[in-house]
Amino acid sequence: MPSHPDFARRHAELVAEIRRHDRLYYEQSAPEISDADYDRLMRELEALEKAHPELVSPDSPTQRVAGQAREDLAKVEHRVPMVSIQNSMNPQETRAWHKFVADELGHDDFELFCEPKYDGLSCELVYEQGALKVASTRGDGYVGEDVTPNIRTLKSVPPKLSGLFPPRLEVRGEVYINKEDFAGLNRQLEEAGQKTFVNPRNTASGALRQLDPQVTAKRPLSAVWYAIVEADQLGLKTQAEVARALAEFGFVTSEALLRKAKIRVEVVRGADALVDLFENYKRHRHGLPFEIDGMVVKVNDLALQRQLGMRSRSPRFMLAAKFPPEEKETLCERIELQVGRTGAVTPVAILKPVKVGGVTVTHASLHNKDEIARLDIREGDSVVVQRAGDVIPQVLRVLKEKRPVFARPFEMPRLCPACKTELVHYEDEVVVRCPNALGCPPQSIYSLTHFTSRLAMNIEGLGEKRVELLLNAGLIRDCADIYEKLTLDNLAALERMGEKSAQALLDNINASREPRLSRFIYALGIRNVGESTASLIAVLVGTAEGFLKVTPEQLQQADGIGPVIAQSVMDFLAQERNVAMVRRLLAQVRPRAVESKPAADLKFAGMTFVFTGALE
Ligand SMILES: [Zn+2]
Repeated sequence: MPSHPDFARRHAELVAEIRRHDRLYYEQSAPEISDADYDRLMRELEALEKAHPELVSPDSPTQRVAGQAREDLAKVEHRVPMVSIQNSMNPQETRAWHKFVADELGHDDFELFCEPKYDGLSCELVYEQGALKVASTRGDGYVGEDVTPNIRTLKSVPPKLSGLFPPRLEVRGEVYINKEDFAGLNRQLEEAGQKTFVNPRNTASGALRQLDPQVTAKRPLSAVWYAIVEADQLGLKTQAEVARALAEFGFVTSEALLRKAKIRVEVVRGADALVDLFENYKRHRHGLPFEIDGMVVKVNDLALQRQLGMRSRSPRFMLAAKFPPEEKETLCERIELQVGRTGAVTPVAILKPVKVGGVTVTHASLHNKDEIARLDIREGDSVVVQRAGDVIPQVLRVLKEKRPVFARPFEMPRLCPACKTELVHYEDEVVVRCPNALGCPPQSIYSLTHFTSRLAMNIEGLGEKRVELLLNAGLIRDCADIYEKLTLDNLAALERMGEKSAQALLDNINASREPRLSRFIYALGIRNVGESTASLIAVLVGTAEGFLKVTPEQLQQADGIGPVIAQSVMDFLAQERNVAMVRRLLAQVRPRAVESKPAADLKFAGMTFVFTGALE
């Protein structure tokens, strides 16, 4: 499906913008925008890519986990390249591969060593004189990333080899995360109010590729090891011997992992036995404590492996027989709207519970109204749900022949389901938003945390957890409440909050009552207005009253404020409830006036302003 040129253009813009901020953050340690603004860019990109999957490229910022800095990790060249494996997607292809190998060897009486294909991150370990020297990721197969200190935090990697070992040993395997550990980690993140991970593979990858090994150490990573580079030159004869040697050196192997499982490491002969074993893997895969996405098959005899050699970039002696994505039919009972923390309103199909890929699926995101139109999904429809590799299920298609006579096309409601505010659809976005950032309950935690954050009102002791506590206790509902409603009595009465910390919090709140005007404007969380833009606006308007009366023409006098930002500011001020909120705040806090500069000096003035800010 070709993309509409506007979407492709916006996609390219977002990718370039996010990359620029990545560089500023990671390479120059000089971020221009807050984390919240960065999140907003990422979310827009994610929404765009969900609606237009053809725009996703492997180097899109969405394809990596936030917080990893690959450019900063040292590079490691693999002495022997870590090649890719040829895939087979069905039994016919598996049989064709077997026949090909038999033809090459001139007979079909050869052994095949079979073990699970782990859904993790491929890594290589180099040992010298029995001690771990270097650990690296696969990278592009030729050059990977140095993750030695991170790998050392894994219990399943021996720092020293046991038994008899060669002077130099290169071992390959996979770092992954158990399903239960993944769920537990996400529960923790959810409770801490942080973003959860999408699937175990990305989680393992993100956790391992950290600059700070302490972060890796906190993630419940596991590893399994299945190959020795040039094992035949160490005197080993078969793949089965390689596995035994690895176990003797002290590595976790498939054999050990599968000790109690219905899936086994096996050596088989012939295409029929191979396909039978694959079917068995497929049947029992969900009983394993970790995700596997197929079965890896290697010709067992290492001499035959060498004889078969390479075909283009993959070895001929090896095959990854992959499981097909799992699909199930179920009922779309209704379509609901969910309001995200940033106001994005997402339609969600509420499904009759169905087991797909070992997990009970109860709902699937429909992303936006374009996707609903593409699927033509209606309440009451029978749908096919897929869960492929990823943990997040999706509606693949609608079974229109089963559609109830009275099923009506879904219409996006006009009002926010959480606060009844009229929804808006900004031209540059795919998603629909609830603009009531300051008063819509699902958005409150986000906007309040932004309001109190270090670069905004800078109220220490009022982070995400505290904000949530105060919201749940009903003490505050919006940012003005922080100044209007909190008292020593009602704070001290809260659980986990003594009189002392209540007083400390009140002191911090009071200390924030005379913010710089730029911080005050930034704290309002206006769409597209980051810190540096807020500084420019502050210089333009001089006072908070001036801000309430600002015009689009006035805004666009400043270098760095284009029509999009100007429109965002005007949209914000056009909402009566936003102005009312600012007025309530101004009864409590007195932003410091800024000396207003004529337009000609604005570029310079803006820079000076930012500079003094940095010295503070
Ligand atoms: Zn709302």
